[in-house]
Amino acid sequence: MPRRNRAFGELTERQAQIALLYAAGFARTYIASSLCVEEVTVDASIARTYVDLGINRKAQLCKIMVETEVNAHRQYCADCQGRFICLTYETLRSKIKHYQRVESAA
Ligand SMILES: [Zn+2]
Repeated sequence: MPRRNRAFGELTERQAQIALLYAAGFARTYIASSLCVEEVTVDASIARTYVDLGINRKAQLCKIMVETEVNAHRQYCADCQGRFICLTYETLRSKIKHYQRVESAA
């Protein structure tokens, strides 16, 4: 039976924490020392996250995380009130477009 890809919100807390730092561009050595874990643990966590999300490139990880932010924004932004007109929303949208370009160029 094919396993369903998990959503970002279904990752473990530690996986999500490492994925966020990694996608934000922090080096693996920095992530390891700031979370007090071994570098191999960071590598293993990122590899596990790729499998869980059904992806194989960093750009895909970045895009999924921004999409997660957009979904949260839909629910919580008081400025937009369902119309998606605030600056935060525009910024998130342009980030997604950016990662889509990176992905299609890969
Ligand atoms: Zn908004």
